[in-house]
Amino acid sequence: MKVELGGKTAIVTGSNSGIGLGVAEELAKSGADVVLNSFTDRDEDHALAEKLAQDYGVKARYIAADMSKPEDCRALIEKAGACDILVNNAGIQFVAPIPDFPTEKWNAILAINLSSAFHTTAVALPMMRKAGWGRVVNIASAHGLTASPFKSAYVAAKHGLVGLTKVTALETAQEPITCNAICPGYVLTPLVEAQIPATMKEYNMDRETVIKKVMLERQPSKEFATVEQLGGTVVWLCSKYAEQVTGTTISVDGGWTAL
Ligand code: NAD
Repeated sequence: MKVELGGKTAIVTGSNSGIGLGVAEELAKSGADVVLNSFTDRDEDHALAEKLAQDYGVKARYIAADMSKPEDCRALIEKAGACDILVNNAGIQFVAPIPDFPTEKWNAILAINLSSAFHTTAVALPMMRKAGWGRVVNIASAHGLTASPFKSAYVAAKHGLVGLTKVTALETAQEPITCNAICPGYVLTPLVEAQIPATMKEYNMDRETVIKKVMLERQPSKEFATVEQLGGTVVWLCSKYAEQVTGTTISVDGGWTAL
């Protein structure tokens, strides 16, 4: 399947590492101009965009914007100037039982993992309507469809993101715009890597055992999904084959949600 996205501009929030960067790379491979984002504004962030431009012959920019702030979310889309493909990917995690869950962590997770997608979509939809084509892809999670203890804010935000996906799809249903959520299982990114040392300590296990017995316990394939597979799923959603795919969730989770 060759998907040609030349002339389209894709904005991927939270894309200086992990899934966001992988998605941006697959979009660039298909010819889309890409806008990378995170809240930092370092040389190395801008260098990531320069590398994509060099490797794939597309236009690539890095725009710093803090997705915990509504005005930054909106300014990101406005500064980009065009938005044919919007991938709402920025996300953070924090794990604690509900009585101990810090209010500031709850607020930050809800703001970054859920509300940011509302603000970016609100600015992007009029641009897509003007251009006569658009794709919104929300990176939710298996935790947008199921729950785990100690992840109250994350699970609530990701379920909310799935709900926002459905509403966006219904509001654009009769236009050449679609909105879908991708629900990954475990993907070995910095977000997940950061959880390994503490889990090793907690369970007194080595790295391999933590990965197989704890992390991938709920992932029947016993393998991580990859950022390339997620990027490929986004590219497919941008293709002509997916024109009637809207308002749905696509699990890339090695069978997690089939259990
Ligand atoms: P990651 O930590 O590598 O990437 C998160 C990205 O979000 C980074 O680029 C980070 O800089 C950015 N970010 C964080 N706070 C931000 C803010 N305030 N403003 C702007 N950007 C911000 O993690 P990842 O695993 O690549 O996660 C990406 C998305 O995929 C998240 O929404 C996450 O919930 C989701 N997800 C990940 C997994 C997994 O196993 N890795 C599974 C399911 C869903």
